[in-house]
Amino acid sequence: MIKIKKQIHHLIDGEEIIDEGKKINIFNPATGQILSSINSASDKTIKNAIASSERAFFEWKNTPISKRISIFFNYKELLEKNIKKIALLISEDLGKTHNDAVGEIRRGIENVEYACSFASNIKGEHNKNISTSIDSWSQFEPLGIVLGITPFNFPVMVPLWMFPLAIVAGNSFILKPSEKDPISTMFIAELFYKAGLPKGVLNVLNGDKAVVRKLLKNEKVKAVSFVGSTPVAQDVYETACTNNKRCQALGGAKNHALVLPDANIKQTVNQLLGAAFGSSGQRCMALSVVVAVGGIGEKLEKELKNAILDFRVGPYDNKNSDFGPLVSKEHMEKVEKLVDSAEKDGSKIIVDGRNLRINEKKYQKGYFFGATLINNVRPSMESYKEEIFGPVLQIINVNSFEEGIRVINKNKYGNGCCIFTSNGKSARTFSDSVDIGMVGINIPLPVPAAYHSFGGWKKSFFGDLNIYGPDGLRFYTQRKTITQKWTEEDKNDIKFSMPNNLN
Ligand code: NAD
Repeated sequence: MIKIKKQIHHLIDGEEIIDEGKKINIFNPATGQILSSINSASDKTIKNAIASSERAFFEWKNTPISKRISIFFNYKELLEKNIKKIALLISEDLGKTHNDAVGEIRRGIENVEYACSFASNIKGEHNKNISTSIDSWSQFEPLGIVLGITPFNFPVMVPLWMFPLAIVAGNSFILKPSEKDPISTMFIAELFYKAGLPKGVLNVLNGDKAVVRKLLKNEKVKAVSFVGSTPVAQDVYETACTNNKRCQALGGAKNHALVLPDANIKQTVNQLLGAAFGSSGQRCMALSVVVAVGGIGEKLEKELKNAILDFRVGPYDNKNSDFGPLVSKEHMEKVEKLVDSAEKDGSKIIVDGRNLRINEKKYQKGYFFGATLINNVRPSMESYKEEIFGPVLQIINVNSFEEGIRVINKNKYGNGCCIFTSNGKSARTFSDSVDIGMVGINIPLPVPAAYHSFGGWKKSFFGDLNIYGPDGLRFYTQRKTITQKWTEEDKNDIKFSMPNNLN
């Protein structure tokens, strides 16, 4: 157990700012009890945050790179030192098991490590003598104030996808965390100041969509990184672009695993289970559909069912829990509705996680949902078309490899997918043919390492440059190209023709 503040405020210039805006309660999803609350940022607080970020930007962008990076080294150390505490905050606020929360933090820290290598990753480009006595070079400059809007399911990792890179590149950053679980996010922001971050380089504004709408229209905000559901991602992208901002908006997903008859079934089943049910399926890369080729569906169904029946769903403080509750009552009801619809549409519920009961009294009002396995799902069903974002794995049976690829490519989402096979040619054809941004070969959760970049295709991503890694650095910087001439001689003539570089 960890002590949680009764109220979570805002962070401006490294100081906690109390506001009187709309009150929003934060729930502990394992107990259904109020854990804390926020007061949404008022206009005055938003204005103060923008002014602080603007002040900070002008000094920060001129701070020597090595000085900037040294703060990131301190930050990495502090995150490592506090990993247990951060994990506890995530568990209380979101219900993740301890190991799952630690895994999230570790993947977040990777991005701080990548930020430490900023100097070798963004160097600019230089050409001497592009014309007589003329040199030209491009340098990558920060944009100004960057806004980040993050979802509930990774309150530490997703913010760390954004602000370390934006900040190391010389920007100042305003973060608007999910209003459902901002506690761990606030903690890691405060920790950054303990690492030596100058005032105002990272400000945090709490609140809901109303705060986002105001920030999106503010002309001082130059770029927006968004991660959340598809309808909001699309709307944020369109609003940001209309308001002259650079935007990358990552949306929802429906991730498929194509399983071929030559796959190693035991290994495949273990991989599928972890990827489908870890974090209660509340991951944008969660595996939600198995596409079983050539009659292998029956065997998979049996093996998956046997394993699922042994799963332990429960609170994080029970060390044996495999996964915890869903984030909210509303979300639990949505998942339930989609399982109802699958049943109504004629699929076969193999393991039913609805109406799961937790014995311990304290957790009986928690938002627990049991692992659910559904077979004979068809692409026309609502449960297949919509993102469920819960512990529900669906099986679609197809006759051939090609039919499986067609099913995957027809889905509106394009975040991640994977193939399980022992045939290299099938794996290669698969990765060449799928219209999906991140592909796994015998790997169910192909989340790229921090020194690559992350992003889906189709309705899973709006924008051009992916998030974090090399694309992230490009997203948070703008190219300036300088052409210079230093020469004694000056012919003193006027040239009206387009200057060319052959002279
Ligand atoms: P959400 O879209 O409801 O909220 C995300 C953020 O947007 C929150 O900070 C919220 O306050 C804000 N917001 C909500 N409605 C808004 C609106 N109308 N206008 C402006 N801002 C608004 O998402 P969520 O429920 O917090 O997170 C789950 C979703 O995020 C899932 O769909 C999941 O797939 C997706 N997700 C995607 C990725 C990815 O990398 N593609 C990663 C994590 C989560």
